[in-house]
Formats: sequence, structure tokens, C-alpha cells
Amino acid sequence: MNNNIYDLIIIGAGPAGMTSAIYAARAGLNVLMLDRGAPGGQMLNTYEIENYTGFEKITGQELSMKMFNHTQSLGVKYSYGDVQGIKDEGKIKLVQTEDNTYQALAVIIATGTINRRLEVPGEDELAGRGVSWCAVCDGAFFRDRDVVVIGGGNSALEEALYLANFCRKVTIIHRRKEFRADLIAQERVNKHPKIDFELDAVVVRFNKVNNKLGSVTVKNVLTGEEKDLLCEGAFIYVGQDPVTSMFKDLIALDERGFIIVNEKLETNVQGIYAAGDVCSKELRQILTATSDGAIAAQNAIKYIDNLKSN
Ligand code: FAD
Ligand code: NAP
Repeated sequence: MNNNIYDLIIIGAGPAGMTSAIYAARAGLNVLMLDRGAPGGQMLNTYEIENYTGFEKITGQELSMKMFNHTQSLGVKYSYGDVQGIKDEGKIKLVQTEDNTYQALAVIIATGTINRRLEVPGEDELAGRGVSWCAVCDGAFFRDRDVVVIGGGNSALEEALYLANFCRKVTIIHRRKEFRADLIAQERVNKHPKIDFELDAVVVRFNKVNNKLGSVTVKNVLTGEEKDLLCEGAFIYVGQDPVTSMFKDLIALDERGFIIVNEKLETNVQGIYAAGDVCSKELRQILTATSDGAIAAQNAIKYIDNLKSN
């Protein structure tokens, strides 16, 4: 047990968590921010961001670093920690990591989401050997090679465009004809000479050749016909699931596992707030995550002030 009692512990150092930290530190709170990875969250998996106000174009890495430096300039304490759960002891909340227990008056959960898997044969076995969930991390291994991207949302189309900068050919595999992605991304992939489409199609199998990915088998959902697409890389962008399983016995979740919050971003437990993609909400963006971070911190600050003055 760490004997220090923090005012506020923030779980997750993505844009939501880092913004909460900035607001809380500026209000004079003693803040600990925990993350099980590098600060930045999903921004680190994004090549370029074009819709964060004030930045016409910025890489995910650069925006992550700018936000993190901002927290550090205000004295936010940052530690590695894979949080396993929270215990509510009334005035004190216990935040448990694999090897420590931290204490705080209030907690903000900003654990975001994790990329969904397709759950088809070959996916687990070939993960890291051609199958990937991060074009920014692994794309460079496939320079001048053929790759596929699976999904029809903004992530799939934008990361396909990134891969097309240096791969020989990029085939987007999507389970229907219409894309969910913004029109601007659709227009860009449609006119890109290196991007092809396999529509109304799902991946049924990832196939191994020489101990790495050699092809994917796709099935046309209208005709049932199957065929193999030769490729050395496959990038899966079929959405995200919330990272909340470790809170499910304490915190109320919606049917998909996202945290239910009110407009103050309070959860069902007093003194525990949630912010960003982990919340049950409509629009999951960097901008909305930072805005949640500010609101959650502002309400946590009031709650902590109240606790301290009673
Ligand atoms: P996240 O960014 O997911 O951060 C959560 C953090 O919590 C992570 O650092 C994680 O390691 C940490 N964490 C999780 N569990 C634990 C635990 N148990 N213990 C400790 N730490 C934990 N949005 C845009 O606005 N513009 C874009 O161009 C854009 N591009 C995107 C591209 C891709 C490929 C993807 C997947 C998303 C993109 N998004 C974009 C969406 C945007 O990245 C998210 O909306 C935003 O990052 C959410 O921020 P967050 O802080 O809520 O969560
Ligand atoms: P998403 O919007 O949920 O899209 C997931 C895509 O995968 C959908 O096209 C979906 O098909 C498909 N899919 C889901 N499950 C599948 C399965 N089992 N098999 C095959 N296909 C499957 O996810 P995302 O693109 O990762 O985006 C997530 C969030 O981040 C969104 O809120 C998005 O707006 C945000 N984001 C924003 C930007 C940006 O602002 N520029 C960039 C990236 C991400 P259907 O369409 O048929 O359901």
C-alpha cells in the first residue's frame, strides 16, 4: 500500500486523462496519472490528425507528446500502472495495480477502448507476423508489399490512405457496400490509384505461408463464394470495445460495457468519474475526449473541495 493519499488519481493517459490532469493540477490538486502504456492512448496509433481544433495537421505522436509535456509542466505525477480494480471505501478510493495499491479522494476513469478482433482462424497465431491493429506501428514492415485493411469506418479508411503512401497495393475489405467513414475519407480512398476494394466481403481465415501471413480468405456475403487474396500484411480496424472489465462489479455499465455517466460525468459511485471513449456516448473523438476530461476534472475538484472542508 502506498501511504500517500492523492487528491485525484486518473486512470489512463490518453487525451481524456491528460486533460483531466491539466485541469486538476491547475486547481492545485495533488494528481497521480497511471497508465499501462505510453502516454497518448489511441492517438499513438494514429498517423495524422486533421480535426483537432487549431491543428490543421498533426501526427498522433506529436499531439501525444505536446499533451504529456503540458501535464508535466504543471507537476502531474505520472506512473506506469496496469489498474486491476478500484475499491470504494467511502471517503477514500483504493486503486489497485498489479503490484501496488494507491489511495485517493477521487478517481477519474479514462481507460478508453481496445481494438476489436475478428475472432477468425489464424488471427491470434499470425498476430505480429502480418496481422496487426496498428498501421503506424507496423506499416513500415510492408513497404512495396501488398496489404489488406479490414473495416469501413474512419480508422480503416484513414489508415489505408496512410499505408498507400508506401505499400504496393492496399485492398480494403468491408462487409457491405456503404462505408461508415466520413465523406472526405471516402473520396480520398476512391480516387487513390493504389487502393482497391473487396466489398460485401468478410474475412473467414488468415492463412500462413513460411510461418507468416501469406493470404486472407474472404467470403462474399451475397453469393457465399470464397477466394484468397495474397497479402503479407493485414490491418484490422473493425471498431473498439471499452476497457472496463476490471470495474464491472463496482461501476454501472451499459449493455456494450461502456460506463454510464451523467452530464457531470459522475458514475454511479460518488467520487468516481469517467471521461472519454470509455463513456457511453455518441461521438468518440480526441476533441470530445479532452472536453470530457475538463468536465470530469471540474466536478472532481468541487467534490474534493467539499470533502476537505467537511
Ligand atoms: P484512449 O486514447 O483510448 O486512452 C486510454 C488510455 O488508458 C490508454 O493510454 C491506455 O493504455 C490506458 N489504459 C487502459 N486500461 C488501463 C488500465 N487498466 N490501467 C492503466 N491504464 C489503462 N479521433 C479524432 O478526433 N481524430 C482522428 O484523426 C482520430 N483517428 C483515429 C485513428 C484510429 C486508428 C483510432 C483507433 C482512433 C482515432 N480517433 C481519432 C479516435 C481517438 O483516438 C479517441 O477518440 C481518443 O483517443 C479517446 O481518448 P481517451 O483518452 O478517451 O482514450
Ligand atoms: P467504427 O466507426 O465502429 O467502424 C468499424 C467498422 O468495422 C465498420 O465499418 C463496421 O462495419 C466494421 N465491422 C465491425 N465489426 C466487424 C466484423 N466483425 N467484421 C467485419 N467488419 C466489422 O470504428 P473505427 O473506424 O475504429 O472508429 C472508432 C471511433 O473513432 C469512431 O467514433 C470514429 O469516429 C473515431 N475515429 C475518428 C477519426 C476521425 O475523426 N478522423 C478517425 C478514426 C476514428 P459496419 O459499418 O457494417 O457496421
